[in-house]
Amino acid sequence: MSEFDVIVVGGGIAGLVAAAFASRNGSRVVLLEASATFGGRARTRIVSGYHFNQGAHALYRDGLLDEILQDLGIAAAGGVPPLVAGFFVAGDTLHAAPFSASGLASTSLLTDTEKSEMGKLLRGLLDGSIETPPGGSLRDALAALSPSPRVRSTLAAMVRLTSIVHAPDLADASALLGQLAGGLARNARYVDGGWETIVDGLRSACVEFGASLRSGCPVASIDRGASWRATLRDGSSLTARAVILAVNPAQAMALSPRIEGLEEATNVVPAKVACLDIGLAHLPRPDILFALDIDRPLYFSVHSAAARLAPQGAALLHAMRYIEPDEKPSRGQLIAELEGFIDLTQPGWREQERARQFLGAMPVNSSIPLAARRGLHGRPGVAVPNGEGLFIAGDWVGPVGMLADAASASGRSAGEAAAAFAR
Ligand SMILES: Cc1cc2nc3c(=O)[nH]c(=O)nc-3n(C[C@H](O)[C@H](O)[C@H](O)COP(=O)(O)OP(=O)(O)OC[C@H]3O[C@@H](n4cnc5c(N)ncnc54)[C@H](O)[C@@H]3O)c2cc1C
Repeated sequence: MSEFDVIVVGGGIAGLVAAAFASRNGSRVVLLEASATFGGRARTRIVSGYHFNQGAHALYRDGLLDEILQDLGIAAAGGVPPLVAGFFVAGDTLHAAPFSASGLASTSLLTDTEKSEMGKLLRGLLDGSIETPPGGSLRDALAALSPSPRVRSTLAAMVRLTSIVHAPDLADASALLGQLAGGLARNARYVDGGWETIVDGLRSACVEFGASLRSGCPVASIDRGASWRATLRDGSSLTARAVILAVNPAQAMALSPRIEGLEEATNVVPAKVACLDIGLAHLPRPDILFALDIDRPLYFSVHSAAARLAPQGAALLHAMRYIEPDEKPSRGQLIAELEGFIDLTQPGWREQERARQFLGAMPVNSSIPLAARRGLHGRPGVAVPNGEGLFIAGDWVGPVGMLADAASASGRSAGEAAAAFAR
């Protein structure tokens, strides 16, 4: 008799959601997390009163994660990102962001002809009349949508913003333009206290449903005998009827190299970003809260303008450099580019710096939806073929959503499926 019905390996968003739903569906669940703390890439570190997420994070309003949080009764209060009053940067010039009708009318980024074309494209994405079939690259889709290089690079910057993917030749246009349409329709919010608020809410839900959460427990391997066995690095082991691997693709493969169905599923191309997050005593330019570069893959946003993330009167800003899959920029180059972008948007910030976090090459998306695999359709399902009772979850799994939406949606499906299997 196993002590547990379901073992969840990994305590990020996907693993916590999986544990919550498996235990809510009646399973005896244990979750094993390698690190000392839960949350994975959704962790928040507090330094001198500044709440540093693992880079810039925004929660899609009424997206898949938001719906799951609402279902579990978890509050994640916060504010709307300052995009509409923000700027797009071309060369060294800031132009009004063309997200809203008034921004589009007033911006100096586009000519009148380009504005009317851009307006039509944004409306078409929103009402679904512009649809791109899966299997084509973003670069080809943008070329078909507009003859204007300026319109194309503006749309490409919006796509980078909503999908956090910079891979125009590899990425599937239908997945990324669908993500942009969702972002335009639903808006997002920065979360008070950082994403730790979400992680804490999920942990409490797991505990309420009776799941056992264990941190500092790296799993070394999983094997199938009469039941599934997870062997920890310290040599101890646990057994259960079902296992959910809520880790990244390479980690899933390393844990269970002999399961045939996993090999193809874990053959992915990750999307990476470099993040420079700065806590300031005072924001030099309170009128510039958001900026996206259209010529270079750069992002800037003052998250504390919308959410409680910094001490009273202080500010927390995030800058990001999207990295293409075959790029290998040096740490020095990335920091120089990011600091240069902050010089442009917040001149005088250097004297105000009180805390910083630099994260180079962060895997923001474990798996880019590839055109060659027909985008989201090519992602593996939660049940591993040939692995009876073995399930996977994460931002690389399942046919819906991207980023934390995909992690949580696949976590929920895996949790429910594992509980049903264990019964
Ligand atoms: C810079 C950045 C910005 C982002 N912005 C957004 C955003 O704006 N909106 C959004 O929706 N998403 C965003 N994301 C993505 C979001 O953070 C992730 O999609 C989500 O957190 C992934 O959760 P996960 O559980 O799938 O994976 P992870 O968070 O990676 O969790 C995996 C967990 O498994 C654990 N683990 C690994 N191996 C083992 C083992 N052998 N034994 C036990 N435990 C193990 C790890 O320690 C980790 O805690 C962003 C990510 C980054 C990096």
